[in-house]
Amino acid sequence: MTQAPEHASARPTPSDAATGTARPARKARPNGQWKIDGTTPLNHNEEFKQESAPLQVRERIEQVYAREGFDAITDDDLHGRFRWWGLYTQRKPGIDGGRTATLEPHELEDRYFMLRVRVDGGALSTTQLRTIAQISKDFGRGSADITDRQNIQLHWVEVENVPEIWRRLESVGLSTTEACGDCPRVILGSPVAGIATDELIDPTPVIERIQERFIGDPSLANLPRKFKSAITGHPSQDVVHEINDISFVAVEHPELGIGYDLWVGGGLSTAPRLAERLGVFVTEEQAPDVWHGVVRIFRDYGYRRLRNKARLKFLLKDWGTEKFRQVLQDEYLGYELPDGVEPPAPSSDNDHVGVHPQKGGTFFIGVAPTVGRVSGDILARVADLAEAHGSERVRLTPHQKLLVLDVPGEEVKALAKELREIGLHTRPSEFRRRTIACTGIEYCKLAIVETKQNAAIAIDQLEERLGDMSRLKPISLNINGCPNSCARIQTADIGLKGQLVMDDDGNQVPGYQVHLGGGLASKERDEAGLGRTVRGLKVTADGIADYVERVTRQFEKEREGDE
Ligand code: SF4
Repeated sequence: MTQAPEHASARPTPSDAATGTARPARKARPNGQWKIDGTTPLNHNEEFKQESAPLQVRERIEQVYAREGFDAITDDDLHGRFRWWGLYTQRKPGIDGGRTATLEPHELEDRYFMLRVRVDGGALSTTQLRTIAQISKDFGRGSADITDRQNIQLHWVEVENVPEIWRRLESVGLSTTEACGDCPRVILGSPVAGIATDELIDPTPVIERIQERFIGDPSLANLPRKFKSAITGHPSQDVVHEINDISFVAVEHPELGIGYDLWVGGGLSTAPRLAERLGVFVTEEQAPDVWHGVVRIFRDYGYRRLRNKARLKFLLKDWGTEKFRQVLQDEYLGYELPDGVEPPAPSSDNDHVGVHPQKGGTFFIGVAPTVGRVSGDILARVADLAEAHGSERVRLTPHQKLLVLDVPGEEVKALAKELREIGLHTRPSEFRRRTIACTGIEYCKLAIVETKQNAAIAIDQLEERLGDMSRLKPISLNINGCPNSCARIQTADIGLKGQLVMDDDGNQVPGYQVHLGGGLASKERDEAGLGRTVRGLKVTADGIADYVERVTRQFEKEREGDE
């Protein structure tokens, strides 16, 4: 048993100077850490997870809900366990953001679901892509978004159709298992795994072993909250490793060769924190067990009393990296890990947009769908075009981009042209390339403001006003529809957080609080840093392009040298 974190220990009794009497010691409230406080649930979320294992809801969906319909679904299944299978109710159309905080959840929600298809490593065959596209067309009104976690999210799904959707997905090796919920979510993986000419190591075997051994494992399906993983073998560090609960980043150790540097405890939203290096070197063979050790530390020691303190980052903050490493080695691995080396700063673009040579003499083509918005039709078309030009593999990226792999040199030009004709550019403007947006008010019950459409309008306006901006340092723009951070606003040059703001006439309108100066490690920036809220600096939803234009022009005027 290890020592409890500082804030879990009882405080010393202060003496009362006036009376000379000692006040009784205030007993520290338990944090719900299973290994320290026991497993008695301390809130309703913990209760429902223990009452009936969340993954078991699948049986009820197949046997009961799909037959009897939406009204048969119990509250704990609908708002709790369904998430373990990638299902969230979506927002009723037409409810403005001003009512998000005042309405009850059931008043905000529709009888339709968003469905996340889990795509570990973002790797899909064209057959898999076509299957998702057909599901989108048959059951999702043609909707599809590439998320910034390499998933594909569909909308308008009815519970009656979920078993058939699973049947189709599983027939091509895909699933929605643990796509959401308090469990190990999709594993981000380098989109150029196994194909990049400058790759240090292919992370695919590690991703596959974690997937096979641990995803859907009931012993890991009741974590304190979500658990996000990332792994890359590419020097561009292309998996936003600084904001995951666990990340493996390839490094070359002077004595031990190529392996991984281990990072833990990153996460945004409440109290954003960048992940920290544990300072250990992990071999490819050890990586799945190390992953398993870290996820079990989270399960056993993670805080479960308050949901907004339940992510791994809070435990890491209290323990520190030294203790975390010690517990991992002593209690979970049973061996010591050697000291690691820090990965060098990224050396190339990490969104992989454009045409690039790959191993074996073919090419991969990276395109930029605007803020990840695609459709069933577009995905089907991509599958057709890829196959027509000799490719059977695509990849999704954590930057809402899409790659087509294995394109023979003589086919590159024609494929790039045909992709451009369906709005997927290999040479997008910097604004189209560097802007991402979350789901927003169109479907999300928590949203206050629209995101994707506002972003698309702003991009069009900026392209018209400022051209391709290739002369300038590219500016990243991340847009969220609420104070959560699904689009990582703290990690962009300009981050916009959805809220109601005052316009020039004093009316309350949809808009955004501005965050400035954030960024993850990239070609342009040696290390990650979180952006800061600029108090009082807000823009209306109609004013995004005006604001970005002002910042861009000002920056161009005042920058020095290569700044
Ligand atoms: Fe919804 Fe807010 Fe996340 Fe956007 S940031 S998807 S609005 S919860």
